[in-house]
Amino acid sequence: MLAMILSRTIQLDENPRPLQLAELPIPEPKEGEILLKVSACGVCHTELDEIEGRTPPPLFPVVPGHQVVGRVAGLGKSVSRFKEDDRLGVAWIYSACGRCAYCLSGNENLCPDFRATGRDVNGGYAQYMVIPEAFAYPIPSVFTDEEAAPLLCAGAIGYRSMKLTNLHHGQALGLTGFGASGHLVLKMVRHKYPDMSVYVFARSRQEQEFAIQLGATWAGDMDDESPQKLDAIIDTTPVWKPIPEALKNLAPGGRLVINAIRKEEADKEALLGLDYPSHLWMEKEIKSVANVARSDIQEFLELAANIPIKPEVETFPLENANQALMELKQRKIRGAKVLKIT
Ligand SMILES: [Zn+2]
Ligand SMILES: [Zn+2]
Repeated sequence: MLAMILSRTIQLDENPRPLQLAELPIPEPKEGEILLKVSACGVCHTELDEIEGRTPPPLFPVVPGHQVVGRVAGLGKSVSRFKEDDRLGVAWIYSACGRCAYCLSGNENLCPDFRATGRDVNGGYAQYMVIPEAFAYPIPSVFTDEEAAPLLCAGAIGYRSMKLTNLHHGQALGLTGFGASGHLVLKMVRHKYPDMSVYVFARSRQEQEFAIQLGATWAGDMDDESPQKLDAIIDTTPVWKPIPEALKNLAPGGRLVINAIRKEEADKEALLGLDYPSHLWMEKEIKSVANVARSDIQEFLELAANIPIKPEVETFPLENANQALMELKQRKIRGAKVLKIT
């Protein structure tokens, strides 16, 4: 089968072609696993973190990709949930131990043995992949394969971030950064909490206008002061500067939820501007989002199908994965980037 592989960590400024096209054997599903013939795989900012070594794969070479849609093409022993040709999705959670206190309490995303698709195990930048059947999800019929792919990461983790804000009806939410996850959160909130006001902080005029079109109450620049204090803010940027800005805009008792697997180091000195009385006092909280649990993905897919949420997608052939990654790095974003795999 054809796959795009990463053989070592690489700085993209020095090498804009980090992945190579390779011919690999089709993997064999073991007991409890299924073989998927991949049709679509989303391209995520986390791949940039893997490639540049901020969250490096433990072994090389590795096939990246953790927003995968495909059809069952083979069954390992004792597989019972799915049959040949079922359409399934795979997300960032590849497996967890199932026995630790985190797993037993539904927080399998925090399991010490959490394995990530496309980082710890080969993922979906390939014609085939294997996955434990317990970590695959039927895709609701309202979505095409390409539409479903970005929902499996940006959507599911956006959903988890929204849950972690602890917001109630009538409160005010801020969104810092307005990429794939931010715009899906706005659509979810508009549906689930129609009386909530949503304030969007985005870099470009186009993003701000897009936010207003999707129903944001207000949209401004990253360092603008919001017209009212906010009960929660979700930050989806890869940098530090928005953190003190967001803390300043929080209401007393408000919570900042940081939805980023890693922050880039470049502007870390922005944190030295933290001012305790205006940024942290009055019981303001900071909480990060780590990974996703299967329940996030299942609940989000159901919600997304009901609304329905259909992401704007831009497709690339598998062999152009490097171009898609570089455009993401340079923030040339017109909808979610998805590899279409034949
Ligand atoms: Zn992702
Ligand atoms: Zn566990």
